[in-house]
Amino acid sequence: MTPAILARDVRKSFGPVEVLRGISLQVEPGEVFGIIGPSGGGKSTFLRCLNSLERINDGDLYVNGEFVGYRLDKGSLRQLNDRELSAQRMRTGMVFQRFNLFGHMTALENVCCGPVVVKGLSREQAQKIGRELLNQVGLKGFYDRYPVQLSGGQQQRVAIARAIAMAPDILLFDEPTSALDPELVDEVLETIKTLARQGRTMVVVTHELAFARDVCDRVAFMEQGQLVECAPASELFGAPRMQRTRDFLQRLN
Ligand code: ADP
Ligand code: MG
Repeated sequence: MTPAILARDVRKSFGPVEVLRGISLQVEPGEVFGIIGPSGGGKSTFLRCLNSLERINDGDLYVNGEFVGYRLDKGSLRQLNDRELSAQRMRTGMVFQRFNLFGHMTALENVCCGPVVVKGLSREQAQKIGRELLNQVGLKGFYDRYPVQLSGGQQQRVAIARAIAMAPDILLFDEPTSALDPELVDEVLETIKTLARQGRTMVVVTHELAFARDVCDRVAFMEQGQLVECAPASELFGAPRMQRTRDFLQRLN
């Protein structure tokens, strides 16, 4: 089976600062993979590389067997044209910490605009799918609300529906609950849990350790641009092997 994600010694620098210092990782189709770790460790940058929002400087990075991003390919520069780049970007759906909904569009329009504009679906087709997806994330009856008329948790669920509407192979979540008021966190985590049960391939960066332990198949601890330790969730939380992982988990307890 082709891995959903294959990273081999992926490196990424911003100027002189190396932010990803050799990330190697394989995620299988249907797997829910968690990434935890202190801020500044490179978690968002790694997701942005998977989503082709950033170009890697070295290594190999594949999503469903297809090379993603730009890179220097064995000494010769391999540039992707805009069409290749947007095709690659569609393989992954990203949900950000800040929901980034279009303020002038209703919930339904936010979900439908990608399928209409990028995938060329008819408005009717896209709206049918959009309504189904909003129902799935518990927002039946909220189709015509504008973002300002929705709570943060509801907005984030619209953002999740919008990501799924593009039918990506992999969903990427970048701290999807850390901008929410505490009482709204659970409804978003429940939504993500439901997606996990449906067998979707997901990479979830999160500070919600109990959630990562309960929902993720495997979890990696990332610090200073490296995956310090990667293990089945119960092992990483129950019996971490590396001192750096133990220190991080202890600090949070
Ligand atoms: P995390 O998501 O784990 O908090 P990030 O990937 O956001 O970590 O950031 C890792 C490091 O990369 C940080 O030191 C950050 O300042 C730096 N960084 C991230 N994006 C950029 C950028 N566009 N330009 C320069 N430095 C960046
Ligand atoms: Mg981040």
